[in-house]
Amino acid sequence: MDDIVVEADTAALRSAGLKVTRGRLAALRLLQRMPHSDAETLHRHAVTDEPTLSVQSMHNVLTDLTRAGLLRRIEPERSPAPYERRVGDNHHHVVCRSCGAVADVDCVVGHAPCLTPSDVGGFAIDTAEVVFWGLCANCR
Ligand SMILES: [Zn+2]
Ligand SMILES: [Zn+2]
Repeated sequence: MDDIVVEADTAALRSAGLKVTRGRLAALRLLQRMPHSDAETLHRHAVTDEPTLSVQSMHNVLTDLTRAGLLRRIEPERSPAPYERRVGDNHHHVVCRSCGAVADVDCVVGHAPCLTPSDVGGFAIDTAEVVFWGLCANCR
């Protein structure tokens, strides 16, 4: 395992006010390598290093990291929800209707929120989330 990466993740957890646990470090490390993975996929990879980690604790880890702002939970209309470490930049996603593959799409027009709704009812808008659907290169 790469010590420098672990140190950066440890610092990220601490500055988010979270205790550093092996499960949290494992989730961050895996999502660095495999963005847009769901809890069960992450668990399947994590148990090779952390045999005592349960699926439920992986779910808890992801919820805690998301609440702390370290992860983003993407919610296309499919379950289970994929997670990623790319937070706070208002990017969007394209989802394959056939295999469920997810890829990043940068702001649609200019900068965040990048789409302007016609009537916001007094809300100050800072983010727009768009999910594009289609068929990925493998499924076409
Ligand atoms: Zn596909
Ligand atoms: Zn993304």
